[in-house]
Amino acid sequence: MRLVLLGPPGAGKGTQAFKLSQILAIPQLSTGDMLRTAVAAETAIGRQAAEIMERGDLVPDPLVLEMIAERVAQPDAEKGFILDGFPRTVAQAESLDEILDGHNLSCVLELKVDERQLLDRILGRAAQARANGEAVRADDNEKALSARLRAYADQTRPLTQYYEARGLLRTVDASLPVDRVTAELVEAIQ
Ligand code: AMP
Repeated sequence: MRLVLLGPPGAGKGTQAFKLSQILAIPQLSTGDMLRTAVAAETAIGRQAAEIMERGDLVPDPLVLEMIAERVAQPDAEKGFILDGFPRTVAQAESLDEILDGHNLSCVLELKVDERQLLDRILGRAAQARANGEAVRADDNEKALSARLRAYADQTRPLTQYYEARGLLRTVDASLPVDRVTAELVEAIQ
């Protein structure tokens, strides 16, 4: 099963992708996590991406495409995967179609949340991490979040039409409790 999780920052893509990956026994491929690992390891990609991510903007397509093409070619992704945070633009979606080379997506799951809830969720996540003595994401602050929401509205939301036109889009109410959302997602992919 080849799935894409689509949704604004704070919608719970990471949480739900992780849960689905356990249920379906397929890997979660998060471009955000891959990029944060590259930034921490100060690789060439990480050095190019760090400042852009801190601002809350999207990193250039070639960097992300290289990472994702390499990742979906790994043996553990052969029986399927859950893309979390990719594609984020129509151009990336078109490139993904080329990368998959005829192995079509099974479906695209859109997590829909009221925008007013998102800021609370993200700032709550940062406060929780701080309270646990964990590192706080460099882009979990009001300034970067407003850029991330803008990037979502301008560049990522048009993807819903792209996938709807292909009959792949399923939308789930992601303001429900975490386990209810998971259950709805499982139902949506049947
Ligand atoms: P995320 O963990 O999905 O919220 O992503 C964190 C940040 O990584 C985003 O705000 C972007 O700067 C960058 N990023 C992640 N995925 C992509 C992508 N598919 N295209 C461009 N930038 C991305």
